[in-house]
Amino acid sequence: MFNSLSDRLTATFKNLRGKGRLSEADVDATVREIRRALLDADVAVPVVREFASRIKERALGSEVSGALNPGQQVVKIVNEELVTILGGETRRLRLAKNPPTVIMLAGLQGAGKTTLAGKLSKWLKGQGHSPLLVACDLQRPNAVTQLQVVGKRAGVPVFAPHPGTTSEFDAPTGDPVAVAEAGVAEARQKLHDVVIVDTAGRLGVDAEMMDQARRIRDAITPDEVLFVIDAMIGQDAVNTAKAFEDGVDFTGVVLSKLDGDARGGAALSVASVTGKPVMFASTGEGVDDFELFHPDRMASRILD
Ligand code: GDP
Repeated sequence: MFNSLSDRLTATFKNLRGKGRLSEADVDATVREIRRALLDADVAVPVVREFASRIKERALGSEVSGALNPGQQVVKIVNEELVTILGGETRRLRLAKNPPTVIMLAGLQGAGKTTLAGKLSKWLKGQGHSPLLVACDLQRPNAVTQLQVVGKRAGVPVFAPHPGTTSEFDAPTGDPVAVAEAGVAEARQKLHDVVIVDTAGRLGVDAEMMDQARRIRDAITPDEVLFVIDAMIGQDAVNTAKAFEDGVDFTGVVLSKLDGDARGGAALSVASVTGKPVMFASTGEGVDDFELFHPDRMASRILD
């Protein structure tokens, strides 16, 4: 009956209009509803716990005043806290003073990195940049071809090792670190002002994959390392994000597959445990299904 958190909280407080200050019992009832809403949105359990205690602290001390009833007051606090954790304002890409800007993508296999590479490159091209895609996922047999297909759709060139040639970048035995370095050198030489480096993922967090990602990062010193995470990942978001945080120390997060049913709890989990901003959202399989991430809109989605 009461679908949104706002509805539930307003119901919890329906008899409390006019109270000057929220009591501990009032706040406990509210916090229970907040926990339930966040768990429904698939926010990771430890993150829910920490968030709920912050809300309790703020709500207990807050004055209920003016036009807001106590329920609305708490909803306002919850919303503000969510937006703050999610990064506040939309965080823009950091562009290098001396081009090319180097952007490295990292994440589990299937997270949506290659698809994102196409979307991001097309978006950048639309903004007047001249991007180059670099195929460093030499693990998956089809990954290089997939990036080439995506690049074609985006109208963006792809630097890739050539299987079956005598090039030192032969796939699949080619060294992804060498490909990444050569890709950045190619961009510099051909005056591309942005390079997007796609890297290999594994189905689960894996020491060898992380080591490879770290070696690529150290070799090309990216301006941004974007961690791509599937919005449907649910409770695993915390451990995966921590592993990539420790492994490659990413600078921003991209939430993929937001076109699905996920309420976006993974965004809150990742932002909360790493303190890194979510920057972009991937919303479909098409090359244009891509948007800037808006913390305020995501807060509403999580609370819905
Ligand atoms: P990678 O292994 O991280 O490079 O992941 P891919 O880019 O290959 O994506 C894995 C699968 O998810 C592919 O089938 C994509 O078409 C699909 N995919 C990627 N991003 C999205 C998205 O935002 N929404 C949906 N619905 N599917 C996506």
